[in-house]
Amino acid sequence: MFQKALKLTIIFLIIIGFAGCNSNQEPVRDEGDEEVQPQSKLGFDVDTIKTGTGDLQITFIGHGTLMLEWAGKVIQVDPWTKFADYNQLPKGDLVLVTHEHRDHLDPQAIEQTRKDDTAIVYTQACVEKMPGGIVMQNGQTKTVKGIQIEAVPAYNIVHMRPSGPPYHAQGVGNGYVITLGDKRVYVAGDTENTPEMKALKNIDIAFLPMNTPYTMTPEMVADAARTFRPKILYPYHYGDTDTSIIVTLLQNEKDLDVRIRNLK
Ligand SMILES: [Zn+2]
Repeated sequence: MFQKALKLTIIFLIIIGFAGCNSNQEPVRDEGDEEVQPQSKLGFDVDTIKTGTGDLQITFIGHGTLMLEWAGKVIQVDPWTKFADYNQLPKGDLVLVTHEHRDHLDPQAIEQTRKDDTAIVYTQACVEKMPGGIVMQNGQTKTVKGIQIEAVPAYNIVHMRPSGPPYHAQGVGNGYVITLGDKRVYVAGDTENTPEMKALKNIDIAFLPMNTPYTMTPEMVADAARTFRPKILYPYHYGDTDTSIIVTLLQNEKDLDVRIRNLK
C-alpha cells in the first residue's frame, strides 16, 4: 500500500516536472470556443479563431496591416508592400483601406493583391490616390462580397500636429467593424478613444492603434478597452511603444484577452 502511494507520488512529481519545463512557452489562455494556434504563413505569425462558420485566420503582417481569411474569403486590411510581396500572398476578395496615409493606402500593394472581382472599400480621401473603390462615409453600413461592414469614425481628439491640426481629422478616416459569421472584428484605423469607439457593442476581436503622437497612448487604449470590452484585444500600429504597459494596465480584466503580436 505504502509502495503504491510512493509510486503514485513519483509519477505525480514527474508530471509536474514536465509541466514546469513548458512554463517558458507563450501562455495560451483558454477562451472557450476561441483558441490561439500560432503558426507561420510566409514568415508571418497567424492566429486561428473559431467562428460559428469555420475558422478565422488572422495573419499579422505588420503595423496596421493584416490579412483575414474566413469562409474561403481573403480580406486584406491596409495592405502595404513595406512588409509583404502581395504576389506571394492569397489574392484579396475584399480590400479594406482605413485612410489615405501612405502606411495604410499603398496602390502598389492593392494592384498586387487585386484580381478581376476584388472589391476595395475605402474613404473619399483615398479616391484621388487610387480611383475605383467603394467609398464608405463614417457611420455607414454596407454588405460587400457578402460581408457586413460598418464604418466607424477614426480621428484624433487630443493629439495635434505642431502646426495645429489633428494628425487625423474627424470625418476623414474609417475604422471598420466586419461581421464574420458570429464574430465581430473591429479594425480601428488611426484614431484615439473616441465616443463612437467606446459606444461599440459586441466586439469579439479589436485591433487598437497604440503609438503617439499619431494615435493612442497605452492608457487611452486601456480606457477604450475597459469601456467597450472586446473579448480579444490586439494592440497594433504600435511602433516603438512598450507593449508591456498595456498588458499591465489590463492585467486584472480577466475577461479581456490582450494579445501582443508582431504589429510594430
Ligand atoms: Zn498610420
